[in-house]
Amino acid sequence: MWKMAQIAGQPIFILPEGALRTTGRDAQRQNIMAARAVAEAIRTTLGPKGMDKMLVDDLGDVTITNDGATIVDEMNVEHPAAKMVVEVAKTQDDEVGDGTTTAVVLTGELLANAEKLLDQGIHSTVIARGYRMAANKAQEILRDIGNKITLKDRDLLKKIAITAMTGKGAEASKELLAELAVDAITQIAEKENGKIVVDMDNVKVEKKEGGSIADSELIQGVIIDKERVHPGMPKKVTDAKIALLDTAIEIKETETDAKIQITDPSQLQAFVAQEEKILKEMVENIAKTGANVVFCQKGIDDLAQHFLAKKGIFAVRRVKKSDMEKLAKATGGTIVTNLKDLSADDLGYAKTIEERKIAGDEMVFVSGCKNPKAVSFLVRGGTEHVVDEVERAVKDALGGVAAALEQGMVVSGGGATEIEVARRLKEYSESVGGREQLAINAFADAIEIIPRTLAESTGLDAIDMLVRLRAEHDKGKVNSGILVLDGKIGDMWENGVIEPLKIKTQAVKSASEAAIMILRIDDVISASKTKEEKTPPMPEEGGGYGGGM
Ligand code: ADP
Ligand code: MG
Repeated sequence: MWKMAQIAGQPIFILPEGALRTTGRDAQRQNIMAARAVAEAIRTTLGPKGMDKMLVDDLGDVTITNDGATIVDEMNVEHPAAKMVVEVAKTQDDEVGDGTTTAVVLTGELLANAEKLLDQGIHSTVIARGYRMAANKAQEILRDIGNKITLKDRDLLKKIAITAMTGKGAEASKELLAELAVDAITQIAEKENGKIVVDMDNVKVEKKEGGSIADSELIQGVIIDKERVHPGMPKKVTDAKIALLDTAIEIKETETDAKIQITDPSQLQAFVAQEEKILKEMVENIAKTGANVVFCQKGIDDLAQHFLAKKGIFAVRRVKKSDMEKLAKATGGTIVTNLKDLSADDLGYAKTIEERKIAGDEMVFVSGCKNPKAVSFLVRGGTEHVVDEVERAVKDALGGVAAALEQGMVVSGGGATEIEVARRLKEYSESVGGREQLAINAFADAIEIIPRTLAESTGLDAIDMLVRLRAEHDKGKVNSGILVLDGKIGDMWENGVIEPLKIKTQAVKSASEAAIMILRIDDVISASKTKEEKTPPMPEEGGGYGGGM
């Protein structure tokens, strides 16, 4: 009788008709199962020998990737607990820009181990408490293991970029891409109160298929994947004064369907002349401010294009909103929504604006910007799938380098750090004792899922590798991890497999928070199905994940 309470035999309905409710162990079991399903789905993509996933969306578009954030995003999961795991990936991506698979896999394993404890009759609040203690301790251990890094450590920064890109389809040109990524981030990094701050809005990643990955380059300024609207416009403008418009340079359609009756040719002429006059005035308005470049987020009328060209103004239309924002930031201009409001103060500045041909396509290069921090990473590659995957690799590299500088700390990759954290957590658990000790140990075991998965990806005996790794760490070899590409154990630091500490601290934080939150739920109340179906028309797919509720 879950839908009602009873007072003196009288049933009182507390939930609407058709509502579903699951409680206690059932609720926990189902939530854990759904969350683990997401983690399990991406686990095999971890590391340089991780497998790829082929994702096909409802329009038949194919994405091939082993990027955790991309996969969970495209999976379209529906189960609420599974969605919490997707959130973990998103947070990791927003906060660090790399380590999404790690964070999700860790969440799944924390839940898997919690389930074992639940089966042994340990209450979820005890597990949650133990997990929280372990998570706090893990942060402490991580900061202790971390090594310092500064802007001067270019070599180390490059290693971070390469580690972030390993296994992401950019192998052949990883040296070049790493070099570019380090250049980009060190250029935009700023010191604020003794701390390094990297504003990722200053770097724009633009991709263009055609050519090879090795043709990728870093450009000072902003690249816009558009061409000028009229061949009569100059191809290049120096000392560009830039108007940024979020309004069309067109005559607005009349609101109502007013029909204009034209009875003789002179009337038609007058009408056309009137339109021409308005457009001319619009262009005059722009020219009056001193602008010689226009980036317009909306359309530009053919006639207006002609007038702009006559005035020697370089104009681009239908620029993406995100590009407009990048342009505003780079050139110091203001995006204006009403042409009448445009004034000289709103104009941005760049030394040159030029249209250049890249792989047969015109692109606009805005360089020598008012804000010298603006840079663009032009990613090249033979086919669409290649540029897409290289773009993701480059974003991971940029994120990794930025995260390393911002926190100023780095650690060994290849599972070395996780083995060390697990080892010290187990020591700590002994000092805690009680039933929490079991939970802390379960947390430590869960962290070992990272080296275990990396070991499995080599195709060698994973258990044997873990045993040997633990022994090395017992001897004080903190950087001992799995050289996945060589299929053996080695010193990760010496081999240049280095990652920002923030990947690890953020992964532990988000994963433990999500796992604890899921564990603490013992009651799932869902509104009736029929009601749900009436509200937004959800795409009918992806429901398979751990569903069954
Ligand atoms: P994530 O989305 O978590 O970043 P990745 O597929 O990028 O997932 O894998 C990251 C893991 O691979 C990290 O644990 C990292 O230390 C490890 N790794 C990266 N490069 C190497 C390498 N050359 N040798 C061993 N491990 C590596
Ligand atoms: Mg990665």
